[in-house]
Amino acid sequence: MHGPRTSPRSEYLLKEKQRVLESPSLAEKFHKLKSLTVDLVHFDPEGVTKNSQIKYTVNLEHAKSVFRFGCHNHECVRGDFDLSDVLTQAVTAKRKSVSGEARCQGWRSRSTIDTVPCRNILRYKFTLGY
Ligand SMILES: [Zn+2]
Repeated sequence: MHGPRTSPRSEYLLKEKQRVLESPSLAEKFHKLKSLTVDLVHFDPEGVTKNSQIKYTVNLEHAKSVFRFGCHNHECVRGDFDLSDVLTQAVTAKRKSVSGEARCQGWRSRSTIDTVPCRNILRYKFTLGY
């Protein structure tokens, strides 16, 4: 399974992709949830430079309940943002909106594994309907 093209980054992403695929859809996991809009803003580790902002309505039938978003650092290793728990807690508490900030727990690049963390910031807002 270890071809010449594998790297710590691609191995991790492949594993995560599999984990997402194997999880039930949001509609299957959260029967009460009728609508979900996410507002995501990516920042650098200092929280100053905004790298991108995206807002969209999630298709609950197609979106998976392992609810993760990619880190915008294209060399990031073993990072990204998994907001599955945030979403689960929000739905369980029947919250209409939830917002917060997550930090990437990965490494800045493959050459800085175990030395320089990524720490990119994702500020999120979920709007939930039941
Ligand atoms: Zn990262």
